[in-house]
Amino acid sequence: MDFLSECGGVTMQSDLDLRFVRMQKTTGLHLAMEAENTLQQLTEFADTPQAMTYFYELFRNFYKNGHQLPAGKKVIGTMCLQVPDELILAAGAVPVRMCSGAYAYEQVGAEFLPAKSCPVVKATTGMLHINQPVWGEDVSAIVIPTTCDQKKKGGEMLKEMGYPVYILEMPASKDSDAARFYWQESVKKFALDLGETTGTRITSAALQAVIGEKTECCRLFRKLNDLRKGKTPLIFGKDIFLVTSAYFIDEMGNWQQAVRQLIAELEEREQNDLAVTNRQAPRLLLTGSPPLFPNLKVPILVEQTGGIIVADEVCSSNRLLYDAVSYDEVNLDDMVSALADRYLKPCTCPCLTPNLDRNRKIVELVNSHKVEGVIYQAFSGCLPYEMEQKSISQTMNEAGVPMLYLETDYGNEDLGQLSTRVEAFIESIKARRRKK
Ligand code: SF4
Ligand code: SF4
Repeated sequence: MDFLSECGGVTMQSDLDLRFVRMQKTTGLHLAMEAENTLQQLTEFADTPQAMTYFYELFRNFYKNGHQLPAGKKVIGTMCLQVPDELILAAGAVPVRMCSGAYAYEQVGAEFLPAKSCPVVKATTGMLHINQPVWGEDVSAIVIPTTCDQKKKGGEMLKEMGYPVYILEMPASKDSDAARFYWQESVKKFALDLGETTGTRITSAALQAVIGEKTECCRLFRKLNDLRKGKTPLIFGKDIFLVTSAYFIDEMGNWQQAVRQLIAELEEREQNDLAVTNRQAPRLLLTGSPPLFPNLKVPILVEQTGGIIVADEVCSSNRLLYDAVSYDEVNLDDMVSALADRYLKPCTCPCLTPNLDRNRKIVELVNSHKVEGVIYQAFSGCLPYEMEQKSISQTMNEAGVPMLYLETDYGNEDLGQLSTRVEAFIESIKARRRKK
């Protein structure tokens, strides 16, 4: 008998294991309840397009049996929109966006992360911690771009948990040639390293095929986005967020098919002038920290209160799929450089400095989608978004568009307070309209 067993060390270890298993089970149950609760709220709205059923069921099935990783291929986790998932697919692996919107996972992360960390980071590290015994073997790498400091530091913890972490170097600005060159080199290195990790070297033919598929996703997303510009509101913003969140978990071909059906249904509604809600509903834009399923708290609340989100500037929706890759020659060098440009040029993440392109983009969306008010969501602890609200608020002021700043997290404790503020904001937009 060794020393540890003699003095009860083995028993202590099994106690720990037992507690961990219990925590895994409770988290799994809470996660399933949370997902179901969000889905119930999403489906309570009247006149929802029939084609949305595909997306509701996709999430219902995804969460009912616990959070599963795709089987049969190497899995590369990504921790930010800035990771070019085209390269992962071209290297024969499956990209899985690890950013989590689950309160159940946030509670796990809160056990070991500072209280002031943002909920995305708490939930994501919490999710990876609790699933480590099952996922540890299956995740070939977790890619973290050097955008957000909290994600970078979280990466160190993930390493300690036993995950292979890959840091993708990204410049802090996008405006100089040096920054562009630095990023292009970084993406090229990533392409090479991926080949080693997956054992499949990326070829120009494979990359061309994946870029083609992704371009089709972007085309469909743009079509969907165009349908939100018209006077007749055809679809709620909360459903658009679900459709784009589905892109993270669905197979691309299936996603495209489901979005095509949705577009066809919306076009039919447009022809018949069939509004999904009151035509007088204030038209709003959502910007700031990304809504990630199951945390669609703010979009649902805004639309339950009588507004409609007709546009967004968030990295889990518009920024995810709006821009396509454009290359001249079918050779790896040109294509990877073009891919890198696609991820840097349109980037309006507040981790960039300066980031005035974000102000310009929001004004553009306000004009194209006839937006009457902006909702700015900042997750508590997310300093980049919290700090940029001042600049966006000033730009909106100059444009004559009211803005509501909401600081929130994944919990429901602030629902009452948020609801009062959203209601007052929507009423003030209606009053402005009457005055005009
Ligand atoms: S906000 Fe920025 S750092 Fe965070 S996931 Fe989006 S693009 Fe990445
Ligand atoms: S919400 Fe903010 S702090 Fe949190 S991960 Fe994104 S950029 Fe980082």
